[in-house]
Amino acid sequence: MVEFCPECSNLLRKEFLDGKSTLVCKCGYQKELAQSIEDINEIINRKKEALEKNLIIVSEEDKISVHLKVKQDCPKCGHREAEAWQEQTRSADEPSTSFFRCVKCKYTWREY
Ligand SMILES: [Zn+2]
Ligand SMILES: [Zn+2]
Repeated sequence: MVEFCPECSNLLRKEFLDGKSTLVCKCGYQKELAQSIEDINEIINRKKEALEKNLIIVSEEDKISVHLKVKQDCPKCGHREAEAWQEQTRSADEPSTSFFRCVKCKYTWREY
């Protein structure tokens, strides 16, 4: 699909702005496009990639859990990235406890 700028008749370029397909002209004219299936797929893929980058699949003993990479300061070494996960304590009335493990020194701590 080729479109020309209504202002200056130059060829419009297709660009991604804020996750939306937009036709832009060097004169500053912009026209937002209705999203095509490919665009939507691309957005979904990007979101998925971003999400997968932050997930850590951990298998310990016989259970597999998914940890989330979060920004947390390690109380031991001061590293700013940790894995986070939640565990339910024995009694179901108590709220689940958040655990953190430093990705650098593997120090594990919990948040009450
Ligand atoms: Zn133009
Ligand atoms: Zn640490």
